[in-house]
Amino acid sequence: MDHRLSPELEELRRTVEEFAHDVVAPKIGDFYERHEFPYEIVREMGRMGLFGLPFPEEYGGMGGDYLALGLVLEELARVDSSVAITLEAGVSLGAMPLHLFGTEEQKRQWLPRLCAGEILGAFGLTEPDGGSDAGATRTTARLDPDTDEWVINGTKCFITNSGTDITGLVTVTAVTGRKPDGRPEISAIIVPSGTPGFTVAAPYSKVGWNASDTRELSFADVRVPAANLLGEQGRGYAQFLRILDEGRIAIAALATGLAQGCVDESVKYAKERHAFGRPIGANQAIQFKIADMEMKAHTARLAWRDAASRLVAGEPFKKEAALAKLHSSTVAVDNARDATQIHGGYGFMNEYPVARMWRDSKILEIGEGTSEVQRMLIARELGLAG
Ligand SMILES: Cc1cc2nc3c(=O)[nH]c(=O)nc-3n(C[C@H](O)[C@H](O)[C@H](O)COP(=O)(O)OP(=O)(O)OC[C@H]3O[C@@H](n4cnc5c(N)ncnc54)[C@H](O)[C@@H]3O)c2cc1C
Repeated sequence: MDHRLSPELEELRRTVEEFAHDVVAPKIGDFYERHEFPYEIVREMGRMGLFGLPFPEEYGGMGGDYLALGLVLEELARVDSSVAITLEAGVSLGAMPLHLFGTEEQKRQWLPRLCAGEILGAFGLTEPDGGSDAGATRTTARLDPDTDEWVINGTKCFITNSGTDITGLVTVTAVTGRKPDGRPEISAIIVPSGTPGFTVAAPYSKVGWNASDTRELSFADVRVPAANLLGEQGRGYAQFLRILDEGRIAIAALATGLAQGCVDESVKYAKERHAFGRPIGANQAIQFKIADMEMKAHTARLAWRDAASRLVAGEPFKKEAALAKLHSSTVAVDNARDATQIHGGYGFMNEYPVARMWRDSKILEIGEGTSEVQRMLIARELGLAG
């Protein structure tokens, strides 16, 4: 297997590396401190075509794939994770469900503006009473035969990109009936922003990802046309499993970027900072720590690229995506802790990027499937689960 990038992918990687360095790095710390969504940076990412990367050109996309998306996410997260997760959620959770399961009309209606980054899409799966156990969805959608509309009631929590000024839609999962065996039938329905009865709460106060948008959403007799059903009725559960399998590769690439960013910052600091009359990087204890950090970032990169390559080739990738997500998020937390330690007291000061990386790393072991859920998936793929 050849893990080297094609000249086109290398050029994309370098372009985004420069963008992250020249545009994101100088500005993002202030947005983060103010807990403010970085509209100007997101607009620029839209102009670069990043929100359309893995989508066909006929819908305004760049005609790329998950490998290209992963490279971009890794380069962004090397510098900042709020910007990276805004792109990841916009592409993998906002637009991808429409691309994979939407009707031609739904794709034409939504994808061009999503690809251009003019609007953002969100994916509302998690509820206050259940995230990992997503089958326990309580939100309901009833088809009103008189008006041919879905009537939606319920609450979703922790939804990324759901309340920005440019959020255009949220796809929500809801119980639309019962299966013959009595289990809930779950479907996915598109709810445009601003639909009466659809309320978006104030942003959460979060530990990290402070320049990204995360909200609680409530639905009180929200009415949308029957045609807003995404894919087949009752296939919502299967659809989001597919979305999450792919999304894990994207999160793994993002986590790899954070892990590599910790190495970048630590190498720089270890050369600059002097203690006992010499750079701290002259001490083997520091060198070994950084060498281990580099090893971890490297293996995380191989893992997400392997999963992405399988996805792109149309091969099974469920286990590899879970392995990549589990490994890269563990590595990101490890590297963020070690980078902070290498920075001493300065590592605890928000003006240093490693402080932001430390705060941003923990969620990687939780979002889009916790580390325990990844282990459950891997065990199941090994034939161990009942
Ligand atoms: C900043 C942020 C952004 C998010 N964005 C989105 C979004 O855009 N859309 C969306 O739908 N969701 C989103 N989420 C939700 C996220 O995916 C969930 O928080 C996550 O899946 C975990 O669900 P939970 O919080 O309900 O935890 P729980 O499911 O309640 O889990 C609690 C703990 O129990 C463990 N656990 C649960 N079941 C088992 C088991 N069977 N065996 C062993 N351990 C178990 C879990 O691993 C975890 O450690 C976001 C969350 C955050 C914090």
